[in-house]
Amino acid sequence: MTDTQALTRYDAFVDGGWRPAGDGETIASLDPATGEPFAAVAAYSADDVDVAVRGADAAFPTWRDTLPAERGRVLTRIAQRIEQELDLLVELETREVGKPRMTAVNEIRGAARYFEYYGGMVDKLQGETIPLGEGYVSYTRREPYGVVGAIIPWNGPLNQAARSIAPALAVGNAVVAKPAEQTSISCLELARIAVDCGLPAGVLNVVPGYGAVAGTALVAHPRVRKVVFTGSVATGRRVAAAAGERLIPVTLELGGKSANIVFADADLDVAVRSAWRVINLNSGQICSTGSRLLVQDEIHDEVVERLVELNRGLRIGPTGEDPDIGPLATAEHRDKVVSYLEIAERDGASVVSGGVPEQLPQAGAFVRPTIFTGVTNDMRVAREEIFGPFLSVLRFRDEEEALAIANDSDYGLVAGLWTRDLSRAHRMAARLEVGQVFVNEYLAGGVETPFGGVKDSGFGREKGIEGALAYTHVKTVIVRL
Ligand code: NAD
Repeated sequence: MTDTQALTRYDAFVDGGWRPAGDGETIASLDPATGEPFAAVAAYSADDVDVAVRGADAAFPTWRDTLPAERGRVLTRIAQRIEQELDLLVELETREVGKPRMTAVNEIRGAARYFEYYGGMVDKLQGETIPLGEGYVSYTRREPYGVVGAIIPWNGPLNQAARSIAPALAVGNAVVAKPAEQTSISCLELARIAVDCGLPAGVLNVVPGYGAVAGTALVAHPRVRKVVFTGSVATGRRVAAAAGERLIPVTLELGGKSANIVFADADLDVAVRSAWRVINLNSGQICSTGSRLLVQDEIHDEVVERLVELNRGLRIGPTGEDPDIGPLATAEHRDKVVSYLEIAERDGASVVSGGVPEQLPQAGAFVRPTIFTGVTNDMRVAREEIFGPFLSVLRFRDEEEALAIANDSDYGLVAGLWTRDLSRAHRMAARLEVGQVFVNEYLAGGVETPFGGVKDSGFGREKGIEGALAYTHVKTVIVRL
């Protein structure tokens, strides 16, 4: 399945091999730069998912009981193999998602890093002993759940898959992953790589298909014991409700409308360039992007001027032209993003850069990076996740007002702070209602730093040691001597 000839057809990867949907159904994968289909991917039904989950459940005990050091070695080999197959994986993601090459390279290296990091952690996760006094020994064990259902979005398919799959496998679970219907292929290749690297058949399965069919069936399956979902708030609510019905734990990594706050005493060169880079990275399709730029009154005009200037030099185009900005992942999503131009105008915001993508190829899902000014926090472009390279600039007077605006959001994923006053930075970091705060930086830290949201951005944490513990439950043993 790895030679380019075979890109036209992809089956699911279940029980160590490629398996078509029982009814032969497929979904076309489209190149978002042209709108042309380039692969047909199996569309799994509920019955197909059932077979995959049962297989994972059967494979689970062997993997759970494999020596931790050996599990670690398998994960480390997967990391190395992802690096060795970087060109193939980059090609697939640039094709399927429209990512510029360097964005895909960084994300796929990030995917390898998840396996490297959690591979190194496997034999270091320890329990505790609890002093119950003379005559007793008590200790805790960290145990895997069994089969983990992982549901993946389309904006960073392999990276986000690895973020959930690597820690779940590390601590001894089996995984059935459901990639987004638009972008399944790199995740399927990951399962093939994992088995090549010695992961026993059935321990990692990838079941492509529609969310409403394969996704629903996965969450509802009685042998799935934990769910990790990355995606939109609306679907997250449905997944959490279904998991709640079954009383199984769920980690929800949902959307964001993150505030990136620039004070007048910041290093403006660094702050503005970072804010601009972050909103345009992956064409703005990053959950933690800083889509609300809060700027202190006295530097507002200068910051806007600098942003507009930076936008002037941007090259938009298909991956083959090595652009700064590729297309959005789908034409449907482009239409949604573009609709915010009208919404912003109706609400009274101004477009100072970007706007209607009239001279861009119509067949491709291209948009112009856009900057809105005159935005107030009640406007839809300040409240809703657009998930494109559209930046809303808001003004604030002082620290209290910046905090009030930043926290007045349904979301609570990350925040950025730019100031030379480190006392202020720590004060504000403590009061921002988010899961991660960056100071004089935005998006630094990778697999090592726990990540996740509060409010509508979800709950539970991925990455770091927390990320591995989330795939375990604690068993306490009490022994009377
Ligand atoms: P989405 O919710 O439409 O789909 C996500 C996944 O859920 C897909 O695999 C889809 O097939 C599946 N799905 C759809 N309906 C389902 C159902 N009823 N039951 C089970 N699964 C179902 O989200 P999207 O539009 O693909 O992704 C973009 C969103 O993801 C944005 O909101 C973005 O912020 C968010 N996101 C969050 C993070 C994070 O770490 N917090 C990371 C990346 C993306």
